[in-house]
Amino acid sequence: MAKRVLVVGAGIIGASVAWHLTGFDCEVTIVDAGDGGGLATRNSFAWINASWGNPEWYFHFRRRSMAGWRNLERSVPGLSVDWCGGLLWDLPQAELAAYAQEHAGWGYGIRTVDRDEALKIEPGLKNPPELALHVAEEGMLEPVAASNSLLAAAVARGARFIDRTEAMSLHFHAGRVAGIETTDGETLLADEVLITAGAETARLLETAGVNLAIDAPPGLIAHSTISDRKLLNGLVMTPDFHVRQTREGRLIIGTDFAGGDPGGRDREMATSLLDNVRTMVGGAEGLERDFLTVGYRPTPRDGYPAIGRPDGVHGIYVAVLHSGVTLAPVVGELAAWEIATDLRDADLAPYDPNRSTLRPSP
Ligand SMILES: Cc1cc2nc3c(=O)[nH]c(=O)nc-3n(C[C@H](O)[C@H](O)[C@H](O)COP(=O)(O)OP(=O)(O)OC[C@H]3O[C@@H](n4cnc5c(N)ncnc54)[C@H](O)[C@@H]3O)c2cc1C
Repeated sequence: MAKRVLVVGAGIIGASVAWHLTGFDCEVTIVDAGDGGGLATRNSFAWINASWGNPEWYFHFRRRSMAGWRNLERSVPGLSVDWCGGLLWDLPQAELAAYAQEHAGWGYGIRTVDRDEALKIEPGLKNPPELALHVAEEGMLEPVAASNSLLAAAVARGARFIDRTEAMSLHFHAGRVAGIETTDGETLLADEVLITAGAETARLLETAGVNLAIDAPPGLIAHSTISDRKLLNGLVMTPDFHVRQTREGRLIIGTDFAGGDPGGRDREMATSLLDNVRTMVGGAEGLERDFLTVGYRPTPRDGYPAIGRPDGVHGIYVAVLHSGVTLAPVVGELAAWEIATDLRDADLAPYDPNRSTLRPSP
C-alpha cells in the first residue's frame, strides 16, 4: 500500500521534497498556511552558490545541489535557473586569494579577473576593483516561480495541495504522530508527517515534545523600481552590498546574500543600499526604492541543515535549513528517498537533526 505522506509547508523545500516523493510509491498531500511560494523563499536573494565560508564537505553538498538544479530544469515544466555567474570582491584581498585557491582546489569553477575582464563581464559597473573573482557556474532564480513550478509538477504527478490550511499541532495516535490538527479543527491523517515549515518548524515540533535549536534571523532586501534595460548580467557581490537584477527588471539588494539585519531601521537601510548601488551601477541612477522585504531565515543554530527523523517520536521527518534555494534539489532528492524507503542515506549523516549542537541550551 502506498505510504501516505503529509508535507507541512510549501516553500521551496517542501515543494522539492513533495515533487521527489511523487517518484515513489507515496500518496503525497501538501498543506500550507498560505497559497504556496513560501515565506523565507518569497523573501530570498536566491543566489545559487557554493561560495566562501564553508568547510569542504558542505561545499560539496552545495555543489551537488547546483548540479541538481540542472537536472530539475530538465524534468520540471516551467522551471528555469539563470546560470548568470557571480562576480565577487566582498573579502579583503588576501582572503579573496585564499578563497579562490582553496575552492579551485576543491573543483569550483572560480577564476581571478582584473578590472578589464570584470568590465567585460559587467559593462555596467562604474568602478570595478583591480582584482575580483568570477564564478561562471553560479546562478539565480525567481524563488516563488521556482517553488510553484515544483509544486505544480508534484500536483501533476498526483500530489494533492491544500492551501490556506494551517497546522496547529501534530496529531498523535497509538503513541506516534499520525497526522496534524489544523486551526480549522480538522485532523489530517498520514503515515508520516514531513515538516518543512521554515521558521515555524520549531514551534510545530514542540507540539510533539521535540526541541530543536532553530533561529530565524531577519534579512532585509531592497527592491528598486523596474528598469526596462539590462543593467547587470549576473550577481555582483561587493564589500557593501550584494545585488542582482530580477527577470522583471528590478535591482534587488542586500548587505549580503542572506540580507542584513535592519535592526528596526528598515527604510534607512534600504535607502542606503540603493544609494550605494546607484553610485556603482550605470543606469541605476534614476531608479527609486519601490519596496523592501524582511524575511526570516530558518537557520539551525550551528548553521547547517537539519534533515531527518528526530529521536524519541515516531512519524515525523524534518527538513529545515538556511541556503534552501541552493540546497532544495539535493535535500528534496535525499529526504524523499529516506521517507519512501525508511532507510538512512549516509550523505545526510552530517545533517542529523539529533546532533548535539542542535540541543537547545538549558
Ligand atoms: C533575506 C534572505 C536572503 C536569502 N538568500 C538566499 C540566497 O541567496 N541563497 C540561498 O540559497 N538561500 C537564501 N536564503 C535562504 C532560503 O531562502 C531559505 O533557506 C529557504 O527559502 C527556506 O525554504 P523553506 O521552504 O524551508 O521555508 P519557507 O519558504 O519559509 O516555507 C515554509 C512554508 O511553510 C508554511 N507554514 C509555516 N507554518 C505552517 C503551519 N503551521 N501550517 C501550514 N503551513 C505552514 C509557510 O506558509 C511557508 O509557505 C535567504 C533567505 C532570506 C530570508
